[in-house]
Amino acid sequence: MTRTVSELCPSSRILMGPGPSDVHPRVLRAMATPLVGHLDPEFLSLMNETQELLRYVFQTQNPLTFAVSGTGSAGMETCVVNLIEPGDRMIVCVNGVFGQRMVDVARRAGAEVTVLERPWGDVFPLDQIREALRQVRPKVLGIVHAETSTGACQPMDGLGALCHEFDTLLLVDTVTSLGGIPVEVDRWQADAVYSGTQKCLSAPPGLAPVTFSPRAVEAIHRRRHPVQSWYLDVSMVERYWGQERFYHHTAPITMIYSLYEALRLVQEEGLENRFARHQLHHRALKAGLTALGIRYAAVEGHQLPQLNAVWIPAGADDVATRKMLLERFGIEIGSGLGEFKGRVWRIGLMGYSCRANNVLLFLAALEQCLLAQGLRITEGAAVAAANRVYLESASSSSR
Ligand SMILES: *Cc1c(COP(=O)(O)O)cnc(C)c1O
Repeated sequence: MTRTVSELCPSSRILMGPGPSDVHPRVLRAMATPLVGHLDPEFLSLMNETQELLRYVFQTQNPLTFAVSGTGSAGMETCVVNLIEPGDRMIVCVNGVFGQRMVDVARRAGAEVTVLERPWGDVFPLDQIREALRQVRPKVLGIVHAETSTGACQPMDGLGALCHEFDTLLLVDTVTSLGGIPVEVDRWQADAVYSGTQKCLSAPPGLAPVTFSPRAVEAIHRRRHPVQSWYLDVSMVERYWGQERFYHHTAPITMIYSLYEALRLVQEEGLENRFARHQLHHRALKAGLTALGIRYAAVEGHQLPQLNAVWIPAGADDVATRKMLLERFGIEIGSGLGEFKGRVWRIGLMGYSCRANNVLLFLAALEQCLLAQGLRITEGAAVAAANRVYLESASSSSR
């Protein structure tokens, strides 16, 4: 090749989509530190610390807790292929894109899948799940906690106990929830849970934190067939992350650095404060959007603070608005997926992206975009409504 290609110089962006989110400067700095070998004693203790921190964010005591080398979808695949053997029955709850993806992954792993459905934006009541468990008696039930395509938050209370009544393992997708809203693996009695680094943990995409309950580990040890994926077989990966340090694959050192630092930030802030921060900025954003007449796609009472999926207002052009936000303000928001394509915008307030600066800038920028397109909105109303939320919260916390 003789042509000289230009230096890597990406524009600075404000990432307010469905992921990746903005990465904290401390995490970026951690990623620029020199490599050590992946079996260096210093790296091994870093792996231990990372596992400890993961147990903290997952709120679990599970010994088998680590980070899969791959993005959130690799976490999904890891949980499925280790629990499922060809011919096993599995129920997958589908009310959005990520439930659908789990169906695809499970079928490829040879599961006999029963799809349980709910309208997009809605969540599953316990009764519907109980009835399906009674009829199917599956080995595994898979459900998405935070459905990023619709902005709906699935209530988890009682679900683990219900599954165990039917001798079913509970598999939960927490890719968009971990580090943004409570994920209580032990209290939920969840058996296999996966997440990703690029959403509310605010590290770059590339790792998938996972955790398996003792019940799940037992089921894995009882398998009749080896796991069909060599790379994602947790019985081997377990020996690498565990005491033996048996070489399986080379851990992506830099990514582990990033996760370690991102988790340290979570610990410094504290989970409760972090959840409260996500709620506050969500309330401010929602007040602003409501002042513009914009409504949420997920049912009231089950809306995620970190992923605000809203109906595109009449008269606004989906693509033109997102293009203007990006080009004029450097703000990225997400488009609709699947059924919601062209109908919703997805505004992320995840991890480090979840800040008042971003909320206020976004609302002001969105007003400008909508006014430019001739929509009749009250100028300044969105920012004023968000500010009222911030002022009330400041005065109630100083009282
Ligand atoms: C983003 C996401 C995934 C997939 O994660 P990738 O990092 O894109 O592989 C899976 N489930 C949910 C709910 C997600 O939001």
